[in-house]
Amino acid sequence: MPDTSGEKIPVLYIVIPCYNEEEVLEKTAPLFLRKLEELGEGGSISRESRILYVNDGSSDRSWDIIRELSERHATIKGISLSRNRGHQNALLAGLMEAKDSCDISISIDCDGQDDVNAMDKMIEAWHQGAEIVYGVRDDRSTDTWFKRNTAQIFYRFMNRLGAESVYNHADYRLVSRRVLEELSHFKEVNLFLRGMFPLIGFNSTAIGYKREERIAGKTHYPLRKMLGLAIDGITGLSIKPIRLITFMGLLVSLLSFAGIIYAVAAVAAGSAVSGWASTVCIVCFLGGIQLISLGVIGEYVGKTYLETKHRPRYIVAERTSENEKEIQKKTAGVEIGYEA
Ligand code: UDP
Ligand code: MG
Repeated sequence: MPDTSGEKIPVLYIVIPCYNEEEVLEKTAPLFLRKLEELGEGGSISRESRILYVNDGSSDRSWDIIRELSERHATIKGISLSRNRGHQNALLAGLMEAKDSCDISISIDCDGQDDVNAMDKMIEAWHQGAEIVYGVRDDRSTDTWFKRNTAQIFYRFMNRLGAESVYNHADYRLVSRRVLEELSHFKEVNLFLRGMFPLIGFNSTAIGYKREERIAGKTHYPLRKMLGLAIDGITGLSIKPIRLITFMGLLVSLLSFAGIIYAVAAVAAGSAVSGWASTVCIVCFLGGIQLISLGVIGEYVGKTYLETKHRPRYIVAERTSENEKEIQKKTAGVEIGYEA
């Protein structure tokens, strides 16, 4: 909704993490540029608004392309991380970079899967008082059957284990500057942003959008990485698994107690047999449970170790904005638009 109340028109930063996306960048940049232009013309965002690409240590030409784009379009900026740090860290780097320049930020993937037109509704919701607006996929028909179902299981599993996150929401989201300010105080290295924003709180809402297919290239989230993200999400947000182990221990102890009574009674009745198979089964069962429990506890101990180091979560190696003044000089007096 265009701002008619005379209040400040917000500066929007669209934050886009990219990792090895040379096939996609040139194709989706016009979508973002057009949207930014359209929102600016409609008066719902300021002309100071920018698109901020974060190159997550790509090994292909992604950073070169981002630099070229930023030379061609004054509304495009980019930062490049010193190495690949993963989607969550790259996104955080972008949000922290945008924090001091923007009033609102929208994070989105660079592959064209998330519908840019949902931004209108997001900004409208912000005008109506929401500090966080979650983009929620209400249609996953373009995802593969496998991806759709593993994602469903992923959300259920996470929520059960205490990692509260918004159902069918990935990282397409509007966040106000105030929320970014609060996020900057969350120092954990074990990042799971979509579960951290609900923890920050404030007035939030969700809007639905249709998820499209990737325009080009292929996903960086195969099953292995999805599982890793799920484990990070659960262990980063909740200690429910440790509590479950305690309950499992209690249950097994109760069963063992019943087993002992049975064994003593069998000896007393003189009917004790050699029982090799049952002994082996019990030993294997308990061995399995103990190893799983150790693994879960080990996961938390490892995470605690990593957290205590307080290492930086990302290092910005380069910025395109360093030569922004020069670009502005070059393009002074020229209306800066986009190439369709
Ligand atoms: N991405 C990133 N660093 C990584 C992996 C992915 O910045 O190590 C970016 C990627 O370029 C994309 C977004 O994160 O913009 C989401 O990745 P992808 O589209 O591969 O995941 P999917 O949509 O299939 O879950
Ligand atoms: Mg994608």
